[in-house]
Amino acid sequence: MIEVKSEHEIELMREAGRITGLALTAVGAAIRPGIATKTLDDIAREVISKHNAFPSFLGYNNFPAAICVCVNEQLIHGAPGKRVLREGDIVSVDCGAKFEGFNGDSSCTWPVGRVSGDALRLIEVTRRCFYLAAEQVRPGARLSEVSRAIQTHAEQNGYNVVRRWTGHGVGRNLHEDPEVPCFVSPGRGPKLLAGMTLAIEPMVCAGGGEVKYASDRSTVVTCDGKLCAHYEHTVLVTETGFEILTAREDDESWSICPTRGAREAKGGVP
Ligand code: MG
Ligand code: MG
Repeated sequence: MIEVKSEHEIELMREAGRITGLALTAVGAAIRPGIATKTLDDIAREVISKHNAFPSFLGYNNFPAAICVCVNEQLIHGAPGKRVLREGDIVSVDCGAKFEGFNGDSSCTWPVGRVSGDALRLIEVTRRCFYLAAEQVRPGARLSEVSRAIQTHAEQNGYNVVRRWTGHGVGRNLHEDPEVPCFVSPGRGPKLLAGMTLAIEPMVCAGGGEVKYASDRSTVVTCDGKLCAHYEHTVLVTETGFEILTAREDDESWSICPTRGAREAKGGVP
């Protein structure tokens, strides 16, 4: 069942999303060659606890940290540790904050120092997949339109989406109904209603879209070892369109739909 949140619950989701965005902004600002992924986790924890929230991922399925950190061919669920980021890497950071019982969920892929043009293009296409998908969100729309926007833009650019993992509803639980696939599956999918909150998260691969668990049995990596990128925001279905609950000031999510300020999407994909 897809939950429709009350006004009060949406306010709590806004705050959870805002804190998630602040943590991810702080992490993004610290990314540079030579930094250990564990240090990025420390930064996220500090921001989240400073705002009286709790890291959603910490302890979830025994995950040991506040953020997932994935480098290059790693897609999701990487645990931070001693690994040091190197010039030319791309790094995906996924973060969630729980505030008064409600969760935010957001991720972003960043270049580490100077990276190849191919890597930058993958990051940019993945990001754009999200905004094209978000533009489909409004009451009465079908979820398959969201998925189609992701898949179409990725494939038009010569990339492949991941099918093994999907976006999801988010609220009291980090993962709720519905699944939000990055590909079109049979049927039109559920109809969106105002008050639903979705984690829309394009996962895009430079090579094939097949992924597998790495030897640590947690990190998901591309089967062909090629680069992949991830971009995610928690999105509210509003009466007229959508609102990005995890909008970040250092990201185009802020200009299209700032969490503080004009909350309704004004249309126009950045
Ligand atoms: Mg996430
Ligand atoms: Mg998610």
